[in-house]
Order: sequence, then structure tokens, then C-alpha cells
Amino acid sequence: MPRFFCTLLLLCLTLNAHADSYITRLLNKPVPGGVAVVDLGAAAQAPKASYQGKPVLVVKEQENWLAIVGIPLTVQPGNHQITAGGRNLPFIVGFKKYPEQRITLKNKSQVNPDQAQLKRIEGELAVQLKAYRTFSPNLPSNLLLDKPVNGPLSSKFGVRRFFNGEERNPHAGLDFAVPAGTPIKTPAGGKVILVGNYFFNGNTVFVDHGQGFISMFCHMSKIDVKPGQQLARGAVVGKVGATGRATGPHMHWNVSLNDARVDPAIFIGAFQP
Ligand SMILES: [Zn+2]
Repeated sequence: MPRFFCTLLLLCLTLNAHADSYITRLLNKPVPGGVAVVDLGAAAQAPKASYQGKPVLVVKEQENWLAIVGIPLTVQPGNHQITAGGRNLPFIVGFKKYPEQRITLKNKSQVNPDQAQLKRIEGELAVQLKAYRTFSPNLPSNLLLDKPVNGPLSSKFGVRRFFNGEERNPHAGLDFAVPAGTPIKTPAGGKVILVGNYFFNGNTVFVDHGQGFISMFCHMSKIDVKPGQQLARGAVVGKVGATGRATGPHMHWNVSLNDARVDPAIFIGAFQP
């Protein structure tokens, strides 16, 4: 290739890189289960933004405010919009095909719970959904998250799961293959908003990083924190285990934005389209 074209190509790439903000380049993955970064422009104060009626995380990068929008797995690809400062701002949700996984559970009640278990599950679900709808005013300590444990991924986000042949909810988080007892560290600072022992999730901790940005860790062998506790980035929340519906010890981590569970891999730079 002649040098002139190489220079031109390099120039175009550089210009392109400058068109999007740093946060946009890292986090804008607008697919179901992904994140849309929407530019709100410059303003003296942070505009209030909402998506599907729920408040959205707004951060500032240089002069501009950006909405960091969680896109639920259940939305249809196509045109979507957020509302900010009385305006409707459009964004496009693309298509993403998630893989399937078949899991065999020896404990049949974990596939088809009985009446008493269903009642327990319903109550636990309500408590956890309420935690996901927490919206505190403080800004997250960091948007790019640390890995809560060091280890390989064993199951990706969004996988359609069939337990003993029956389809159940898709995988709402990431699994890391690490031994029981491994300490789990919070990937950003935050406040513990819920701990519990649940039928499906086992020992569980919710950490509110601020403005609806929430981490959930489950299947833990031990919980080391209490509700209301403030955690610095990297603080230990508990130990890896296999409590609840788990086929063996692993660390399961959910990330939620505006009450939408999104792919945690986006925030650790491991997202695959
Ligand atoms: Zn999992």
C-alpha cells in the first residue's frame, strides 16, 4: 500500500476514535442484555434521564453528560429512546444471538419446585427485584469494573438454559470457575443493600454502586458483610460456594443498570458481540 494511503487510513481511524467519547467506546454495546451510551450534551447540571420509566445512570465526561442505559434481555431490536430533560433521545438496539446450554440437576425440586417452595421463591424474588430498583444519588466509584475473582469464565451471560430438558430463565450473569472459599471482592465501591439465603441463588449479596448500578453475587459459602455496610472498591463480600441451584462451586455475578440485568463482561472488557 502506498505510504499516502496508509497515512490517510491512520488519520481516518484517529478521527473516528475521537468522534466517540472514551466511555462510549468502552461501554456502548447496544444489544438486548447490553448497554447503550447516549450523549446528553453539555449542561451546568446533570440532566435526569429515564428509560422505560426507570431512572438511568448519568455521568459526565469532559463537557458532556452521558446516559449509561441498561437494555433488558427481553427487548426487541430496533428503535428505542430515553427521555432526558424533557427531550426524547433515540438509540438503536441491535441483534445478538445467545447460545444454549443444557444442565442436568439431580435435585428435581430445583427444576420443578413444590407448592411450599414456590411460595418461598415468590417472596424471595420480590425482595430481590426491589433491591434491583434501588436508585441512590451517589456516582459509582468506577464504571470499568474489577473482576470480583481471578479465574476463567465458565458460563457467559444470556445463555438460554434448559434444566433437565425444560427451559428456564436465561443466565442473567457471568460464572467464574474458581474453588470454594475464594474471596469475592466488590468490583466498585458501594453500599450493601441486601443479603439473604435464597432457594435458587443461595447465599447472596447485593451491592449498590450508585444510581441504579448494582452488583449481585450468589451461591456463596459464606457472607462477610451486613446490610447498610459501606464498601471500598475491592472489599471482600464473602466466599465462593455452591449454595442454592448450583452444580458445583463457582462465582455467579450479576450487573444491573436501571433494573435491567446486563452482561458484566462489558464492564471488564471481555464482551463478545
Ligand atoms: Zn451463573
